[in-house]
This record gives sequence, C-alpha cells and structure tokens, in this order.
Amino acid sequence: MVRIGLVMLQGARHVHATALKRAAEEAGVELELHELRTDADLFSCQPEAIVLPGGESTTMRLTGGAEGSGLLPALFAWMRADPSLPVLGTCAGVILLADPQDGGEPLIHSSIDRNAYGRQQDSFQAELTISGIGDSNIFSGVFIRAPRFAEISANDTVVATHQDEVVGIRNGARLALTFHPELSDDTTFHRWLLEAALLRATA
Ligand code: GLN
Repeated sequence: MVRIGLVMLQGARHVHATALKRAAEEAGVELELHELRTDADLFSCQPEAIVLPGGESTTMRLTGGAEGSGLLPALFAWMRADPSLPVLGTCAGVILLADPQDGGEPLIHSSIDRNAYGRQQDSFQAELTISGIGDSNIFSGVFIRAPRFAEISANDTVVATHQDEVVGIRNGARLALTFHPELSDDTTFHRWLLEAALLRATA
C-alpha cells in the first residue's frame, strides 16, 4: 500500500488523481490517495509521496500560504525534513519547488522562469526524450503556459528534454517537470512516484 498526498490548492489536481489511480492499477500497487488542502491534512495523512500539480502558482501561494490554509509552508518544511520523500512537481508545482518563498532553501537546485514560452496561446504538445524514468525514452508532453528552466544545477539530474531544452529534472527523490504528465495517457511519471514510495518504505 502506498499513501500519496495530492496537493489540492488549485489547478490540475483531479486529473492527477485519475492518473495516479491508473498508474497504481498498472503497477499492481494499492493506492491510498489523500487530498491535501491544509497543514492539518498533511499532518494527519503522513504521506509517503507528494504530488504538487500545475495550475497558477500565484493563486496557490495565496490559498496555500501562511495567511491561507498554511499547507505550503508546512509542506515545504516536511519535504526539507526528509529529502528521501518522493515528490512529483509539475509546471506551477516546479515554480513552487524552485522558489518556495517561505524563507527556507529551495526544494530543487535549478532555477525557473515563469511563463517563459509566452501566453496561454503559446501552449503546445511535443514529443520529449526521457532518460532514467520508466522503460520508454519518449513521452508526449503537454505544456500549458509552462515555465522554463533558467539554469540547470549540477546537483540535479536531467530526466526529460524537448529538442535541446531541459524540461524535467530530478533532485534526489524530487522530480520536477515543466509539462503536465497527467494529461498524457502514459503513466510513466506517476508509476515512478508510486514505485519510489514503495521502495523507500521497504528500504
Ligand atoms: N503559468 C503558470 C504559473 O506561472 C504555470 C502554468 C501551469 O502550471 N500549467 O504559475
């Protein structure tokens, strides 16, 4: 059994829930999915892995910040306390990981530029090259008003590229993707999260 905490502040969260359920079925893993809206949700769930969805990072900071539900500062502290905790951050989720704005260290080392592809109409879908995650080396990536990595840290491992550009990195157990893997049929990244959580539980 794997207990996953899905951050429900705003954005593409329901599709992540569907993708996680499908990934669990495919991997033959029993999934316990917990929706996280407040710091209290986090503490009662004690998640074995976290999904930080895409959406609008400014809204997420407002609803999940210290003045809102308190989830984000609690979550960042939770992640810092245990770097082995598997995390899947996508799109706006990557913006939050790179720049948590809670006075603490970033959760990934690479830096990110918001909305760097342009406006909503510049959203696109493209074939990506994947390395070190799952069995396949291609993935169909959906980019929605996506951020772009500005500088890739030597401490992060590149896991996904679009042409020559890095669109996914892994910092230990934290996976940060500038696209929306939950919008593709392929559950590679969600399966990775479940399997990483299972491995950690049995280590
Ligand atoms: N443009 C959004 C932001 O800056 C991110 C887009 C997304 O998550 N699809 O927060």
